[in-house]
Amino acid sequence: MDNLFTVMHTSAEEHLEIGGEYDVVVIGGGIAGVAAALSAARSGKSVLIIEKGVMLGGLATMGLITWYLPLCDGYGRKIISGIAEELLYKSIECGYDTLPEEWRGGPAYVEKASSRYLTRFSPSEFVAVLDEMMQQEHIDLIFDTVFTAPVMENGICRAVIVEEKGGRKVYLGKVFIDATGDCDLAYRAGGDTELFDNWCSYWVYNTDLDMMQKALETGHIIDAFDVHQYGDSPMPGNDKGKKMIIKDAKGVTEFVLRGRKYLLDDLRRMGKSNTHCTTTIPAMAQVRTTRRLIGAYTLTTDDLNTHFDDSVGAVSDWRFAGPLYEIPYRCLYTPQLKNILASGRCISATGDTWEVTRVIPPAALTGQACGTAAAMMIEASAAADQVNIKELQEKLSAAGVLIHF
Ligand SMILES: Cc1cc2nc3c(=O)[nH]c(=O)nc-3n(C[C@H](O)[C@H](O)[C@H](O)COP(=O)(O)OP(=O)(O)OC[C@H]3O[C@@H](n4cnc5c(N)ncnc54)[C@H](O)[C@@H]3O)c2cc1C
Repeated sequence: MDNLFTVMHTSAEEHLEIGGEYDVVVIGGGIAGVAAALSAARSGKSVLIIEKGVMLGGLATMGLITWYLPLCDGYGRKIISGIAEELLYKSIECGYDTLPEEWRGGPAYVEKASSRYLTRFSPSEFVAVLDEMMQQEHIDLIFDTVFTAPVMENGICRAVIVEEKGGRKVYLGKVFIDATGDCDLAYRAGGDTELFDNWCSYWVYNTDLDMMQKALETGHIIDAFDVHQYGDSPMPGNDKGKKMIIKDAKGVTEFVLRGRKYLLDDLRRMGKSNTHCTTTIPAMAQVRTTRRLIGAYTLTTDDLNTHFDDSVGAVSDWRFAGPLYEIPYRCLYTPQLKNILASGRCISATGDTWEVTRVIPPAALTGQACGTAAAMMIEASAAADQVNIKELQEKLSAAGVLIHF
């Protein structure tokens, strides 16, 4: 094969330092990973989050995605609660918000709501609050650490190999949760996955003297800056862009450089000036649908407004008032992988339904379901496909999740 380079190892065996041993190891510290870790820890399990960045929140913080999308159905009924709702309030605990007054406190129903149950939040302040939450729940974190490979034995993941400044190490665990957003763990463990394409996005924070003046007038800091959305978009009449499949570092690099070029072109167009400034650029690629698990069940648009016996929670469509989905537990695992669960934007949902499940509130909901299921798997010495669904639903419901809409 032309594209292979042979590395000679001195020994066929490799002895790696054990970084730690946990009940539940979560790969990825985005919203799904945080929710998974919280629910597993609250179920009494020792938990580690492995994160390649140096902060929690994933796209919601490093990616500058700072609209906590709606928890309601658009007709005044709250649909998504549990850890998803808890994290909404954590996102605005120390910073600004745009939460409609009638939703503050999280009523189950609001008659004639002026807006949906959603808010803007400050990513920096959210990051700091998430750090504190992890400490309070005794969840261990390691940043600046890249998961590289699972150690598999007959479909069971025994450990994960990571690369970090101190070298190559392993972390042992009983259940592993894929919260990478890109399904990296399940893919490398040999699970079936689907690749999908993305519009290039490059959202940045910027400000100018006019925005600052407006903020002085309104008294709301959010008017002092703008989230400018560069990139290719599927808007009618815009045919400049191309959708990109991102399956490796070259793809990520092309995606990010393309976005940053849009920023540079715009800066050049505006001209050098002391009156405007790009204040923050994203610290991770702003990808939406990259790779997802092909689970025991794949949620599609045919499942709109459908009840599932193994639902782990209901979600609403952030784009439109009305459409609802229940997420079957089967979307979180594949029978090929006995002790790996998938959460967040890489669960088994496809097509337009992936659009619904990939955003912050559903990512928190599926993370919470994975964390609770992981704890049950450990207690029952059960594989992912052997979890007692009724008991899982009872636990999630007791933790505030609406199982059936
Ligand atoms: C342009 C854009 C706009 C969006 N707008 C909104 C919006 O307004 N509101 C909304 O609710 N949602 C929005 N979304 C979607 C939403 O932000 C994300 O889909 C959601 O936050 C996904 O959470 P997650 O935890 O599943 O994944 P991610 O946020 O992707 O988190 C995955 C984490 O895993 C880590 N990781 C990945 N691989 C490894 C590895 N090998 N080793 C260690 N760590 C690893 C990453 O660093 C990251 O922290 C938008 C997304 C994009 C791209």
